[in-house]
Amino acid sequence: MYLKKHKCIFLNDNLDEREMRLVMAHELGHAIMHPKENCYFIRNKTLLLNSKIEIEANKFAMELLISDEFLEENKCYTINQISRMTGYHENLIRLRFE
Ligand SMILES: [Zn+2]
Repeated sequence: MYLKKHKCIFLNDNLDEREMRLVMAHELGHAIMHPKENCYFIRNKTLLLNSKIEIEANKFAMELLISDEFLEENKCYTINQISRMTGYHENLIRLRFE
């Protein structure tokens, strides 16, 4: 949320650590690229959205969370296998390669 000239990110503390890192990275992407938008991350929905800003935030999150070094070390694995290794949805992993 953009509140009184401050960018605020609220995280649900019921999320597990992996989900929290994903939501934080995604919302950081919005804070940097779409600072005046109020965006809500909705589990099982946000990852499937095709809007331009959600795709940009998901790409940002994957760039932040999955390093070039990790991909280089695991280049023999498929997107499906990398998805299972990292715990991130295949659609997100696919964005990392675009
Ligand atoms: Zn979003």
